Amino acid sequence: MSPTDPSPAKTQPPLLAVRGLRKSFGANRVLDSIDLTVDRGRVLALIGPSGSGKTTILRCLNGLELADGGTIDVAGELSIDFAQAPPKKRLSALRDRSAMVFQHYNLFPHKTVLENVIEGPVGVQKRPRADAVAEALALLDRVGLGDKRDSYPFELSGGQQQRVGIVRALALKPQLLLFDEPTSALDPELVGDVLRLIKELAREGWTMVIVTHELEFAREVAHEVAFVDGGVIVERGDPKQLLRHPQHERTKQFLHRLL
Ligand code: ADP
Repeated sequence: MSPTDPSPAKTQPPLLAVRGLRKSFGANRVLDSIDLTVDRGRVLALIGPSGSGKTTILRCLNGLELADGGTIDVAGELSIDFAQAPPKKRLSALRDRSAMVFQHYNLFPHKTVLENVIEGPVGVQKRPRADAVAEALALLDRVGLGDKRDSYPFELSGGQQQRVGIVRALALKPQLLLFDEPTSALDPELVGDVLRLIKELAREGWTMVIVTHELEFAREVAHEVAFVDGGVIVERGDPKQLLRHPQHERTKQFLHRLL
């Protein structure tokens, strides 16, 4: 398994470039001029207090939410300017570039593990079923869940469900993996397996944006950390530097509360 394009970033445009992204829900301005850049094969961790806008950033990145303004460019190939209502085709192209792993797994409860994994590749991407099944089984084997192919989500632990959630994202062969607090719904003893899997994916060169409150994990896995508060990126930088020596008072207070 490998990302669609694992080649190094240096001479290429960033995989993800976000400029001035804005989003309000009614009168509530949730994102205010968010700028982000993620090069191929790099991992960006978003940290910040609850309600600061981290999930909304992810949801805008894969078109689950429509931003009110700003631009998203993917791999220098797809460019969307949200100042105008983007055409449906572009939005669906944006959705195709990334895959999301959700906090609460969001597996289809009435489908088996295998059916959950092949739903996207077969149902949405229209890939041949036999190929999708073979790839799904290889991915499930890889995460130690090959024997659960015919189980239903309710028969699995939270950690197993989340590994299925990750396999389901990988099966879409996205350019960008988005993780929304992937371990925060798990019992503590189940967190480790999921974090280990995400670290492996990072080592393999997948490009990822990860919302997490696991600061130690962010320090280990991310190439860059951004601290989000009140819908803005307050500061961003090298994880070791930012987590140990934050520059801004708001970051200091947030980290102080967690550490
Ligand atoms: P975080 O992920 O940092 O906890 P969110 O992005 O989930 O923050 O939420 C940011 C703000 O946007 C919160 O005030 C939340 O209530 C609001 N919000 C998020 N989604 C919606 C929505 N669909 N409708 C209205 N308000 C929303």
